[in-house]
This record gives sequence, C-alpha cells and structure tokens, in this order.
Amino acid sequence: MSEAPQYGFDTLQVHAGARPDPATGARQTPIYQTTAYVFRDADHAAALFNLQEVGYIYSRLTNPTVSVLAERIATLEGGVGGICCSSGHAAQIMALFPLMGPGRNVVASTRLYGGTVTQFSQTIKRFGWSARFVDTDDLDAVRAAIDEDTRAIFCEAIANPGGYITDLDALAAIADAAGLPLIVDNTTATPYLCRPFDHGATLVVHSTTKYLTGNGTVTGGAVIDSGRFDWSASDRFPSLSAPEPAYHGLKFHETFGPLAYTFHSIAVGLRDLGMTMNPQAAHYTLMGIETLSLRMQRHVENAVRVASWLEAHPKVEAVTYAGLPSSPWHDRVARICPKGAGALFTFALKGGYEACVKLVDSVNLFSHVANLGDTRSLIIHSASTTHRQLTPEQQVAAGAAPNVVRLSIGIEDAADIIADLEQALAKV
Ligand SMILES: *Cc1c(COP(=O)(O)O)cnc(C)c1O
Repeated sequence: MSEAPQYGFDTLQVHAGARPDPATGARQTPIYQTTAYVFRDADHAAALFNLQEVGYIYSRLTNPTVSVLAERIATLEGGVGGICCSSGHAAQIMALFPLMGPGRNVVASTRLYGGTVTQFSQTIKRFGWSARFVDTDDLDAVRAAIDEDTRAIFCEAIANPGGYITDLDALAAIADAAGLPLIVDNTTATPYLCRPFDHGATLVVHSTTKYLTGNGTVTGGAVIDSGRFDWSASDRFPSLSAPEPAYHGLKFHETFGPLAYTFHSIAVGLRDLGMTMNPQAAHYTLMGIETLSLRMQRHVENAVRVASWLEAHPKVEAVTYAGLPSSPWHDRVARICPKGAGALFTFALKGGYEACVKLVDSVNLFSHVANLGDTRSLIIHSASTTHRQLTPEQQVAAGAAPNVVRLSIGIEDAADIIADLEQALAKV
C-alpha cells in the first residue's frame, strides 16, 4: 500500500476532508441541503442509532457538507476529529460540555474575548459551572486556581483585543501536571499562524465567523480534539470514561479511543444541545478557508505596517501589537505563532475616551463594526461596545481600557488603510 503524501498547509486548506461527490462527480463540495438520510433497511438504521456504524441519520447530528468542514479544520490543526457549531460561543459551550458538571469549574485567562468573559462569568453559572479568571502569565496563580473540581484550563492563543500572546507550552505543562485538558481558542491566530496542539493543547475551539470564513458572511464555530488526552486516567471525566445511560451503558473512551471526545460531542452534545452548523454556513466557510494562508499573510503584512506607522504618530500614546519589537510579548511570536502575530491590535489615544469616539466617527475606509477577521479593515471602541458589560477593572485586564481603540486590519492596500487613519486622526 502506498503512503498518503504528507501535504503542506496550502494544499490541505484546499483539499482536506473533500473528494469529488461520489454520486455526481461534482468537484466542489455540494451543499447537502437535507434534514434526513434514507436508511438502507431496519438493520442499518439500528446500527446507526447504536453507534455501531458511522453514517448520516439527521442533520442536527451530522451533515456531509458540515463534516467536510470539520475534517478540514481538524486536519489544519493537526487534530484527530472535531465538530462544527452554530457560532463560536456555541463551540465554547460544546467544548466544555463533556468535561463539566454541576459544581465543576474552568480556570480561564483574564485576557479573553469580552463575550467569552460574560459567557464564563455569568451564563455558565446557570448550568452550575463556574470560571476562575487568572492572569495566565502568573503561573503560580494558575496552579493555585486549580482545585479538585477544576475540569479544564481555557485561554486564547493570541488574545483579542490586547495583542497578547499566551505561553501555551507553560500552560500545557501545568494542565498536564494536574491531569487536566488545556482548551485554546485559536480564533484570532488561525491554524496558519499558530498550532496549539504542537504546544501541548488538548482541544482547540474556533469562531469560524472570523478569519476561517474571512469575509464576514456567516457565524459558526468548531471544536477540534487532539486525540491525545487520556480521559480514563482519573474518574474526573465520567461522560467519556463511565457507562453512558443514553447509549445502553456504552463507554465512549473505551469504545472509540482517540475519537471518544468527537463521538461524544456528536452523539450526545449535538444531539441534545442542538448547536448545529447548517450546511449553507459550512459552504461559505469552506469557500473562505481555501485562501486562508494567502489572506493571513496579507493581514499580517498590513498589520505590521499599520502598527509601525501608528506607533510613530504624535496623537498615539501606545500600540499593543506583539508584532512590534516594543511589545512585551514580542519574543513569544517566534515560538508560538512563527508566521506572525495576527492582524488584530489596539492602540491608545492621548485624547482618551472622547478622542476614540471621534476617531471611529471619522474613518471612511474602516467599518465601525463589532467583528474581526474580515477581508475589510474594521475599527471599534471596545469600552463603549464589545466590552461594555465588563467592570472597569475587567476592561483594563482584557486590554480594552476607555482610551483604547481596536483595529482588525484587512487585506486592502496598506497605503489606503494608513491614509484613512491619517485623515481621521487629523480630526481628533
Ligand atoms: C468572535 C469570537 C468568539 C465568539 O464567536 P461567535 O462566532 O461570535 O459566537 C469567541 N472567541 C473569540 C476570540 C472571538 O473573536
């Protein structure tokens, strides 16, 4: 038997998970716009429902278009499997669901997307879960936050919006020593810039809404498993290691090995929580992901140019971009995200809150929106929008202080992006 070639990233982003449609030969992955799939016979149906055979039953669980996307992202991340969800926030709940239970907690970075801070500090309490926020640069604080009810450590590879890069290797070592999975939100880095599994992460979550789709068309999310965590090493993960009553006492880890987490996420998570991605959304994201590396190269190139220009501007107090030598996290770029520090950063204006509001009202090319990772350059004043629900202390910890504006640099001509900021800053 010949070995499958070890394709590079640029090849995999176009091909992984897909093949010509077996029924028609269609070269592009069809949008399987169907809810249900015809069983061959009663025995086939029974085998599918018993998880004895893998196949399609109902699109809340799996759909061929969505499966291609899940496999594509899993391949780009170097994982064994994964699922797609209706949004990035859905993916976060889905990622925690097999691990958590009433009374359990997740140790999470203080430097997270504002919506995630709200989801973790407020909404998950309704499930009896809780989050303990720590500065992930304070490794003793991370260790101290872990107790016998902790079930995961959660961080972002490149944190949105503070221009912060997490020392994934250091967190993975702590997680390992404690027998816990490390979950990394890789949304702002993408697998092109950072591969968390190479640094010891267990699970990766994505908001596919952002760079993976890349053009601001659909919301979506993904949870990818490295397949490397031993769910049976302790009794802390009974959903995966103990008999599952809803499947006649089946033990997921014993039965499915490295695919246990993925199977559980489909057979229990998607089945019962229903946070399913629809095939249209998967189609748009598959279109976007084909050019991921090309876009990320341009995003990063432009971000370096714009950040360097802003840093020298007299009205700018500071720029927080790890791609600049002035960043305290600049020396982590080569190790954690060697192809660049992303295209999302913040800068502080000497004029404070008022100047920030004036700036966002004066741009023309930039769009004032609560999004990131679009081909278009985007601007937002986090303190009055995405981070509005946070306390002032949380805003500062998240890198969204009142005098700070966030940019998501697009793939337009860098000179045009800079010219737009120049005319807007002149009005501040
Ligand atoms: C946008 C975002 C999310 C949430 O994703 P949605 O698709 O909007 O639900 C989570 N994490 C990060 C880093 C994000 O940028």
